[in-house]
Amino acid sequence: MGIERLYEPPAIGQPFEVAPGVHWLRLPLPFALDHINVWLLEEANQYTLVDTGVGLPDVQAIWAGLSEKLFKNKPLGRIIVTHAHPDHIGMAGPLARQFGLQVHMSAAEYFIARSLCANLPGFDGQTLGNFLAEHGLAHEQKAEETREARGGLFARLVPEPPLSFHRIQEGDVLTIGGHDWRCLTGFGHSPEHISLVSESQQLMISGDMLLPTISTNVSVYGTEPEGNPLKAFLASVQRMAELPNTLTVLPSHGVPFKGVHDRCAQLLRHHDHRLSELRDALRNGPLSARQAIAVLFKREMDGHQMSFAMGEAIAHLHHLWHAGQAKRVQADGVWKFETA
Ligand SMILES: [Zn+2]
Repeated sequence: MGIERLYEPPAIGQPFEVAPGVHWLRLPLPFALDHINVWLLEEANQYTLVDTGVGLPDVQAIWAGLSEKLFKNKPLGRIIVTHAHPDHIGMAGPLARQFGLQVHMSAAEYFIARSLCANLPGFDGQTLGNFLAEHGLAHEQKAEETREARGGLFARLVPEPPLSFHRIQEGDVLTIGGHDWRCLTGFGHSPEHISLVSESQQLMISGDMLLPTISTNVSVYGTEPEGNPLKAFLASVQRMAELPNTLTVLPSHGVPFKGVHDRCAQLLRHHDHRLSELRDALRNGPLSARQAIAVLFKREMDGHQMSFAMGEAIAHLHHLWHAGQAKRVQADGVWKFETA
């Protein structure tokens, strides 16, 4: 038992075969988390690509290189996007246009991606800044850094969204290279995340829902200010814990691994522990999400990480609030949470 890490990561931009016809491609990311894994599934006459990397020049150059070589005789024929985050959808639009193909993704992820790309009111940096200020991140250097790091970031990383899409949803089965891949929806990290499971190949492309070392970010956003994404995430992890333990998991970050059951159990314990730390802290007096960060994260953060940490702190406080274990009161325009 335990979690078995299966491979060392391949060089950036160099496909590496992890199972017959299943190629792991690592692409660069300009953050503390410096890479994303995407998956090229080889079929008789085409490749299917799962996730695409951000739309920045270094990633564009890798796809241009692969178009010259790998896709010369066997083109890209289909793109599947697990969810709307920029490292997953960033290059979907340009590649779909180049190869004349449809992007397969869930409806909720498609429409949120379009809203973020267009920087619509309610999805923009201003809304994010106001929302975080209501949770205590204001009048400090980190508030400025966070707005700078996140404002308009999505549109910079996804310069050309796909203009149409092919809808996939829970339970759909896609035949790829002669194998059936079942779509499994996950919630809490993004609106309607799709993971793919191939029982015949004993593989799971988990996207961001199941990662080997880091815990998936679960954040509340200003578009759904009273949301309880942690409850949704924990329910999704509980469902994933029912998958066969023999699956090899191909995650978006980190390296492929075996041990679905132990990894799910670790994640459930991790969040349980955080919730109990917060419950303990609230006994000493009310906390805003900004103050709760000191309880949950014991390290320095840049502006980009701070926005995720705030989202995560709010998600944990909201979980206690919606479970009746904390009350929410507003003082001077800032939400504070206290023992119920
Ligand atoms: Zn994500």
